[in-house]
Amino acid sequence: MDDIAADPSHPRYASLLMRHRLEVAEERGMLAGSAMIAHGRGEAFDYLLGERTTESARSASLQALAYLRHAKRPVLSVNGNVAALASDAMLRLAAFLSCPLEVNIFYRTPERMKAILSFIDERKAALDLDVKVLGHAPDATIPGLKGPRAACHKEGILASDVILVPLEDGDRCEALVKMGKTVVVIDLNPLSRSAKLASVTIVDELSRALETMLEASETMSELTIDTSYDHQAVLSAGLQEMLNGLNED
Ligand code: ATP
Ligand code: MG
Repeated sequence: MDDIAADPSHPRYASLLMRHRLEVAEERGMLAGSAMIAHGRGEAFDYLLGERTTESARSASLQALAYLRHAKRPVLSVNGNVAALASDAMLRLAAFLSCPLEVNIFYRTPERMKAILSFIDERKAALDLDVKVLGHAPDATIPGLKGPRAACHKEGILASDVILVPLEDGDRCEALVKMGKTVVVIDLNPLSRSAKLASVTIVDELSRALETMLEASETMSELTIDTSYDHQAVLSAGLQEMLNGLNED
């Protein structure tokens, strides 16, 4: 699906590839109007980070994976941007964890839900993975949220103990934390409400963070939760890396 004309040796190849994926998703009706704005905000922070995975981001990814691995009912939440940018990686991670993926979008319309679910189904078939995909028939609500934003599956998000919500909005992140869940966020902005409120925040670009987790799932036989993990310190380290980048050369 990534047969773009861009040259892989182009210094901005990864960034161009992600933009291309969003364009394709936009054409398929998967994205809300604000999707490009959210992506642009992420890109700006990634530029400051030097578009690389920092040590603190890596430690957050490993802690996230450990929580998910030791969860009783892990679930991976997917919104429009996540489906567009990283459906394959999310499906692979769900297969490794033997847990469901739940499509859960901020601006829910039947058309967008259908477009996202059919895209994920296509990718699932192409990868030949056995993953349960939820989102088609929500039968529960997230307490504290109003309207369609609250809709979720009882056997998915509602019952989960550990949830990965990449690129999540602050309000929804807060509602999930209030439910007592361990909430893992992937967000390049260490100052966002989601980044601050989550249990573990990976300050890294979505596809890189997922790559770190998938690689570790293959290479690390033991994944232990670090009991001395310091969420605040990891967030501050992410911000500091951005400031350091500004002072280099
Ligand atoms: P909040 O609601 O948490 O205060 P926000 O309103 O600024 O955050 P949203 O639009 O709700 O932001 O969520 C998008 C978030 O995802 C932004 O913080 C942005 O930096 C981040 N983001 C966008 N694209 C990516 C990406 N590819 N990888 C990682 N983070 C990303
Ligand atoms: Mg927001």
